[in-house]
Amino acid sequence: MRGRALLLAGLMLVTAAACSQEAVPSDSLVARAVGSNKLTIGIRFDQPGLSQRTVDGRYVGFDVDVAKYVAAELGVDADHITWHDSRPSARETDITSGITDLIVATYSITDKRKQLVAFAGPYFDTGQDLLVRLRSTDITGPENLNGRKLCAVGGTTSAEQVRDKFAQAVQLVEYPRYQDCVTALLAGQVDAVTTDDVILAGYVAQNPELLRVVGKPFSAEKYGVGLRKGDGEGRAAVARAIQKMITSGEWLESLNRNIGPSGYRIPPPPQVTEQ
Ligand code: GLU
Repeated sequence: MRGRALLLAGLMLVTAAACSQEAVPSDSLVARAVGSNKLTIGIRFDQPGLSQRTVDGRYVGFDVDVAKYVAAELGVDADHITWHDSRPSARETDITSGITDLIVATYSITDKRKQLVAFAGPYFDTGQDLLVRLRSTDITGPENLNGRKLCAVGGTTSAEQVRDKFAQAVQLVEYPRYQDCVTALLAGQVDAVTTDDVILAGYVAQNPELLRVVGKPFSAEKYGVGLRKGDGEGRAAVARAIQKMITSGEWLESLNRNIGPSGYRIPPPPQVTEQ
């Protein structure tokens, strides 16, 4: 009897040890960055001003700068970052599967996503808007899109919001990437594209004689850096890096350099609450 009680106590100890190990993964972001001096970061390759792969293979934009700043604070310099093209609908699985260490891709912090991944931030505040052809002066907001075709990207808060609020009125067309929506808009296949206005501003900057943003945001989006759930140390380290980027002035410098040329009004920095 005593032997069995001892065995049981021993088993409980082993289980408790396993549980506490789960709560603080031995290969946390910080440990991985220090140990390997490498990070894989998910970004977009086709969002002008935010993150873009140039024809000569460089990565530029505000999200890229945030990613590089965070990596540097974790001790990993830019040429040790592997950039991964994370589609909007793949962001959660790119984190949970371990394909990426971090996601810095206009990734809105939401309660639904927090069930699967963790966020540090926010590092930018924006809102959902509409991109239309310059001559479509009759489109002044989502309420007068009745019967028209609206393009959104699958797996985004933008598509979800349209489905929840305007589904009866508009015909939602979903593509995997924003560039596909913009091409469809320019070709006259859809009447508007919807997502965060800072993203849309980048496409207007590429085609100012053809496109415009309506300019009446109808949601509040807070961008966070996505990382694996349960890695509190990693989240705190990323949040500290974001805060430092803001206070050092590099945050504003990057925005002025990357987003400024589109004419987009740079908002004040957000409070870093996810830490
Ligand atoms: N920020 C929104 C989201 O996370 C829309 C823009 C995007 O595709 O990243 O879904």
